[in-house]
Amino acid sequence: MTTSRPEATGAPRVTVLTGAGISTDSGIPDFRGPQGVWTRDPQAARLLEHGPYVSDPTIRRRTWQMWRDSPVWDARPTPAHRSLVDLERAGLLAAVCTQNFDGLHQRAGSSPTTVLELHGSLTGSRCLHCDARERTADILARLDVDPDPHCAACGSPLATDVVMFGEALPGDVLDAAVEAATTCDVFVAVGTTLTVQPVASLAALAAESGARVLIVNAQPTPFDRIADRVDRRPIQEALPDLVGELLTAH
Ligand code: ZN
Repeated sequence: MTTSRPEATGAPRVTVLTGAGISTDSGIPDFRGPQGVWTRDPQAARLLEHGPYVSDPTIRRRTWQMWRDSPVWDARPTPAHRSLVDLERAGLLAAVCTQNFDGLHQRAGSSPTTVLELHGSLTGSRCLHCDARERTADILARLDVDPDPHCAACGSPLATDVVMFGEALPGDVLDAAVEAATTCDVFVAVGTTLTVQPVASLAALAAESGARVLIVNAQPTPFDRIADRVDRRPIQEALPDLVGELLTAH
């Protein structure tokens, strides 16, 4: 992979990091915000802990019900998601690193190879033991008769591709995100509190590598002081404006 900086061509190379805040206007509540899922119900976080999930069928049934009832399935991309597609089509986008597993970047039109899903995805599911895979929607469709689904090949429990607490982030995805953060000219963090590692360190890596850091988030983040700009406006306004600026400057 090339690491050359784009001064040679004049086109800025932009890496975007998105968190739950970009999807709240799609009807998906965040986890840690004032009205967040885990703020309102701290026990809900337990449904995403790997150890209890593996050992406790009751937890697994509740987790699958949580996924079935998730607002993700009815969510639609917003102008903020779509603005990143414009950035990609203009050839300026290196990557969208996302903490979200809602698939809204791809549904907006971002190419799958551009979207780096650091916390996995709800679209696919996996066997916890072998390589068997299945579409999550197919599992959810039979949940009434199969509330604790197991692998047809080896009999082990199934889980979505969402990374659980206690699991490592996908190494290849994280490597690609680090590459995108350390080789960009502009690093835009959107709708993330930048408090969860190792994702938060991407902003620091970008800054250390010489990128301009732009933050779009309603609440303060630990990286506001190193940012070239902090925008607290609603993301649906702020991000399309920012993308418009980048496209115009180019
Ligand atoms: Zn299996």
